[in-house]
Amino acid sequence: MAQQIKCSVSECQYNSDMVCDAPMIQVDRNGVSKASHSPQTKCETFKPRS
Ligand code: SF4
Repeated sequence: MAQQIKCSVSECQYNSDMVCDAPMIQVDRNGVSKASHSPQTKCETFKPRS
């Protein structure tokens, strides 16, 4: 079954009606060595709409 990723970052070119259309995304820690809550993570696949 296909997974769906809900995402509200509508300015990303992969975003379609608040769902991510990228075939795969990469999420990394956001400047910390050990994340303990979601703001310490970020989507590296984000691309601004041109
Ligand atoms: S690539 Fe990341 S930021 Fe862009 S729509 Fe997908 S989850 Fe959201």
